Amino acid sequence: MRFLITAGPTREPIDPVRYIGNRSSGKMGAAMASAAARAGHEVQMIVGPVSVPMPTDVDLITIESSSDLETAVIANFPTADILIMAAAVADYRPIFVSPTKLGRGESLTLELEPVPDIVATTAASKKPHQRVVAFSLEQAGNIDRAREKMLRKGVDLMVFNPTDTMNSDVINAILLYPDGRIENLPSRTKVQFADVLIERAVALT
Ligand code: C5P
Repeated sequence: MRFLITAGPTREPIDPVRYIGNRSSGKMGAAMASAAARAGHEVQMIVGPVSVPMPTDVDLITIESSSDLETAVIANFPTADILIMAAAVADYRPIFVSPTKLGRGESLTLELEPVPDIVATTAASKKPHQRVVAFSLEQAGNIDRAREKMLRKGVDLMVFNPTDTMNSDVINAILLYPDGRIENLPSRTKVQFADVLIERAVALT
């Protein structure tokens, strides 16, 4: 199988030196890429500005903004069998990006627009053999929101990922499938979880 795995945050430019970002570390994406490579799969990663080391034995594309990420996913999904969309894509980005560094004033109002939904667009372009896995980072208990997103975005497997284990080494995940199946994966390390997720993703094919 050929896996395409996205990881880490995006940075949405305000001007040449400033951006809007988030605290995603890229840990989960790195663990999944290593797990897929260990299991003998081909792996291509698209990574934002991460704060942890990425595996060295996989093909790595680096990006900054959600727009870079979208371009890279669209370019590389056609040759992938499974997309795992673990990147923490920004929800909003500045409509106007200043070409020069903004000076300091009394106040600054930024007008933001929603970032296009990359996983939804990609899932809509799936060939019959392709599968899409996404992550839904939510407050513990908000499983209905994860289920709604899975159905709306057209993904084949949604990982419900509670915010309380964000950036930690452990994860308390629940796997949701469009046919209503649910699999609870109580607390384990992200490395152990990654092995299970790669197995479940392959089982979708
Ligand atoms: O942000 P949200 O909870 O909707 O993210 C759920 C999934 O959708 C994640 O897998 C994320 O990578 C993906 N996503 C995306 N494009 C966006 C926002 C989120 O592909 N603009």
